[in-house]
Amino acid sequence: MSRYDLVVIGGGSGGVRAARVAASYGAKVALVEEFRLGGTCVIRGCVPKKLYKYAAEFSNLFDVAQSYGWQVSAEFDWPTLRVNKEKEISRLEDIYGSLLHGSGVTTFADRAVIEDETHVRLVKEDVVIETARILIATGGRPFVPDIPGADLAITSNEAFDLPTLPRRVLVVGGGYVAVEFASIFNGLGSKVTLAYRGGQVLRGFDGHLREGLSEEMQGHGIEMCLGTQPQFIEKTAQGLRVTCNDGTISEVDQVFYATGRLPNSAGLGLEKVGIELGHHGEIPVDEFSKTSCETVWAVGDVTNRAALTPVAIREGAAFAETEFNNNPTRVDHSIISTAVFSTPELGTVGLIEEQAGARYEEVNVYVSRFKPMLYSFKDTHTRFTIKLITDAKTDRILGVHIMGSGAAEMIQMVGIAVTAGLTKADLDRTIALHPTAAEELVTLKQPSYKLINGERE
Ligand code: NDP
Repeated sequence: MSRYDLVVIGGGSGGVRAARVAASYGAKVALVEEFRLGGTCVIRGCVPKKLYKYAAEFSNLFDVAQSYGWQVSAEFDWPTLRVNKEKEISRLEDIYGSLLHGSGVTTFADRAVIEDETHVRLVKEDVVIETARILIATGGRPFVPDIPGADLAITSNEAFDLPTLPRRVLVVGGGYVAVEFASIFNGLGSKVTLAYRGGQVLRGFDGHLREGLSEEMQGHGIEMCLGTQPQFIEKTAQGLRVTCNDGTISEVDQVFYATGRLPNSAGLGLEKVGIELGHHGEIPVDEFSKTSCETVWAVGDVTNRAALTPVAIREGAAFAETEFNNNPTRVDHSIISTAVFSTPELGTVGLIEEQAGARYEEVNVYVSRFKPMLYSFKDTHTRFTIKLITDAKTDRILGVHIMGSGAAEMIQMVGIAVTAGLTKADLDRTIALHPTAAEELVTLKQPSYKLINGERE
């Protein structure tokens, strides 16, 4: 029986990074993946989503192009997008395989189940491998509420590979996936309705961005049904009929559920090593991603800390650094830049207004909304929004929230300033780059309003 220093279960972002870093420190590493190397991000998450978002945005550009003198007549072909997407993710999958191979990691296309503290069973091969450490990086999966007809709905797992572009789609949910896919289907030409149980989409995001995005989505023709929950779904001769809590009935071709994700923690044999799951099925870990078992660690979505690829990568690398380079490394989860690839995009880092108001006595809020230059020749309701939140006492930047084309790219850069603890004065002494939307961030003058002890002045 071969003995490894590390067996990684799961070949997604976190698992692959941990395996490669551990191997680079001389560890003998095996990685077991039952589906495809690359995980959710590469195979049916971030990467195909961004490609489909690019595809979806052409319709808007074609529209604007006419105001610049272009005559555009365009038709969209879903199979072309689907086939090209598959080629690209297969290429990336191969790269993941080569990188692992090149790092000396042994890969198994199999399902792994923990037998005990130092043994893992490969189910298909029916062999047991011995290891000093086990890292669980099995990610998550879409959650669909249990309503009659839920099995007729699709999730992000199926959406990219539908045989045809649905003519009418009902998207259920109000989080990242819901608004991103609503924008994608809308941009590609589907008639989209979004049903969200709450009062406004993107709970937890900045209020200006939530309201703004909802208006923009409606402006693009998406029907936003807030306070709405499907009760049951039935198959009809024409497609699917969805009956909602408020009595409304939608006739659609696809119902797309985007109602969150659950950790992939079932059937891993965790009970054999005494690991008890948290409320949402997550594997509880300490600041070094260690579980309650001395030889088992977990990183990424399965731990339900921040379900984002770059976070999983950091956690995987930190684990390997700690365990195989004798360099205890924690991941700071306090400031994480994030983007929502809706149309328009959102970029956000740091505190939202409510959080800043609860933590700081006096808070300055700067809000700037303006018509993007791209639409100079066109009558449009589209607005670019930049919001800056600072601590009035120290001038430190607490949060930045951006809505508009390029917001994701901008927020990655702004994230550096927020992580570095820069101040509004640092922004003020930065010379603007003209003409850009981002220059607004360094030319904000007076606060739009203040929060004193959390109350708007
Ligand atoms: P989110 O947690 O972002 O959103 C889930 C949505 O579903 C919420 O609006 C929630 O409502 C709603 N919901 C939950 N349970 C039910 C229910 N029983 N009935 C009706 N509605 C329900 O999950 P997503 O699936 O959108 O995304 C999962 C995670 O993946 C994200 O949190 C993010 O970390 C990551 N992700 C990141 C992306 C990016 O970086 N661009 C893109 C996509 C995903 P409520 O708000 O009322 O709870």
